[in-house]
Amino acid sequence: MSGFHRHFEAVYGERWSGLFEAMKNPAPKVERECFGGYSRYVLDQASIRAAKALKVAPGDSVLDLCAAPGGKTLILAEDLQGRGSLTANELSMARRRRLSDVIESHVPPASRTLIRVTGFDGNLFGLKKKNTFDRILLDAPCSSEAHLIAEDPEVPEWKDSRTRQLAMRQYSLLCSAILALKEGGVLVYSTCSISPLENDGVIARVLERKSAIVAHDPTQDDLSDLEATAHGFQIFPDRSGGTGPIYLTRLIKIRS
Ligand code: SAM
Repeated sequence: MSGFHRHFEAVYGERWSGLFEAMKNPAPKVERECFGGYSRYVLDQASIRAAKALKVAPGDSVLDLCAAPGGKTLILAEDLQGRGSLTANELSMARRRRLSDVIESHVPPASRTLIRVTGFDGNLFGLKKKNTFDRILLDAPCSSEAHLIAEDPEVPEWKDSRTRQLAMRQYSLLCSAILALKEGGVLVYSTCSISPLENDGVIARVLERKSAIVAHDPTQDDLSDLEATAHGFQIFPDRSGGTGPIYLTRLIKIRS
């Protein structure tokens, strides 16, 4: 048995074999109509839930901190309904090009004027754009185990140091996002990882260290159909009819 399987069997116990089998199948995609039929974009139902969880409203100033290839960006832009602003940020130049192409071909010109594509390290927003945004999506770079399984179900090269390192990067991006959020602003943290270190672990750490400025959003009704974890919600394919995996949690900035 590889280190990958040993690790996740220890995490999930009896659930692991079913979760692993479900993750071998690609998540079913839906072709979503964008902007009232202007375009169509194919993505996983769980990704739609993560973007919708941000509850963007017309007039909001929105930051999509890690945006490429841009499926969730389209949903955030659509929810602005022609009013407000959206910064779609992506560090990788190649992926940023793809993001710009997705926006160009799927967003109608009037809504496109509200979107600015930037290429900063997401860690800089907390320093350079303090207390700026009403809504922030941090769809963080993560272990993405479903992709690893698709390459080789044994995941022979996997090491737990990788998920630990990613959890540190995610924590740092999350701290930056919290600083960039306005008081009263809302943030959604999401990953497509099944590693609790990258999910509840990151949120637990931030709530422990930054409890004076950030808290769980007290209104969680729209998420109540999802599987609850200690600090958020997950959509895992063994219990969702094949959708996901996605972890998400919604935080609110209580003080700047
Ligand atoms: N939200 C995207 C979507 O729905 O299409 C998927 C985002 S993907 C999970 C994470 C992205 O974060 C990758 O495109 C990666 O290049 C980018 N990224 C990694 N480190 C970053 C950083 N420090 N700042 C900004 N983006 C980063």
